[in-house]
Amino acid sequence: MIEICNEVISSRSAYESVQPRRCQMPKGHSRKHSEFHYLDHLRIEQKSVAEKIKRDSTMTTGAAWKSEEAGPNRILRWVMLLSDTELTRYNIRMENLKPQVVAKLREKAATYDNCMSVARKLTWLVYQMEDAPRPPQEVQEYLEGFFGEMKWGNTTCIICKEKLNFALFSKAQRGKAEIETGHISPREHNAENVGFAHRECNIAQGNKTIQEFYNWIRGIIQRVGLF
Ligand SMILES: [Zn+2]
Ligand SMILES: [Zn+2]
Repeated sequence: MIEICNEVISSRSAYESVQPRRCQMPKGHSRKHSEFHYLDHLRIEQKSVAEKIKRDSTMTTGAAWKSEEAGPNRILRWVMLLSDTELTRYNIRMENLKPQVVAKLREKAATYDNCMSVARKLTWLVYQMEDAPRPPQEVQEYLEGFFGEMKWGNTTCIICKEKLNFALFSKAQRGKAEIETGHISPREHNAENVGFAHRECNIAQGNKTIQEFYNWIRGIIQRVGLF
């Protein structure tokens, strides 16, 4: 495992006092401190993909709670680790939200370190998709230092196991991308538990773990008599 620099990077975020941003570059690096340096190349190749990785790894998912009384649309996952009382200091009043909104926000909570690790894992997976751009050697070595050797064409949908093509990122239906970040267990946001999934597969999985989802499908197939 690569040892990271961990130097505090000052930011203007209102949540700075909850968790300072930290440099994720290898310890002893020469260039300027950076939190997402390994996304710089992808940002040039396809900006939306780099932004998606950053957003999905660090923010709660945007749901239908866009209005004031329904709660924040997207919020940093580590902020959701604070207690209801602590959150009032940031003008987030959980007691005013519907219980199911609170539950949804709370289950997306994750530590800063887990979010950083998820972002690296997703980047490692993107570069292994069919037709993905090749990473600069420095980026490849950095990511391989965490998750092992990269093999092109290796990344599959975590649910249906079909190979994922990088071009799926630019395909969208009714504004929704065809590829989404998925979780083996929807309530755990860490590197071991995340991957990419077809939008359709992710919707089908819903709030189940992947194993629960497979068992459910197996039951249907048996009852229908297909097996
Ligand atoms: Zn640094
Ligand atoms: Zn799939």
